[in-house]
Amino acid sequence: MKKTPQMQKREELLRSGKLVAGGFMANDERSLEEVIAADTKVIEKAGLTNKKVADKMRAITALAAPRLGQWIEINENLSASVEDFRGGIVCPWPHAGTFTKRITWVKTKDTERLFFWTDLNIHMIEEHNFYEGKGSSFRIEPEDIIEILFE
Ligand SMILES: [Zn+2]
Repeated sequence: MKKTPQMQKREELLRSGKLVAGGFMANDERSLEEVIAADTKVIEKAGLTNKKVADKMRAITALAAPRLGQWIEINENLSASVEDFRGGIVCPWPHAGTFTKRITWVKTKDTERLFFWTDLNIHMIEEHNFYEGKGSSFRIEPEDIIEILFE
């Protein structure tokens, strides 16, 4: 796929630490398009869509948000807790709107694993099919999210 100048610019922005410390791509050497294609493939292979994944993440955040800082039970195996940080963060894609700096923690009872995502993760998965580059602090591994939310 040929990169347009806009795609090139966005990739540079994602790789820079301008928006978040360490950037959204970390040291992932694949192109933005390759990262997106590989992650979307994993999701689709599981019979899901990025929209379905984002909807489920958003629903869990919405359930836990009113009880800020406390763990609430989502189902027999999952509990979640929302932590709010002051301020907002902008999406690296060009459109209006900022996202609350908020982290949703999720833990599994059976395997005692702990995961987290931000409101920006949900947005980027839903609108841009982007789970962030390998090594990025806020990368969501599609395999993990499938395991905790859909299995
Ligand atoms: Zn966006």
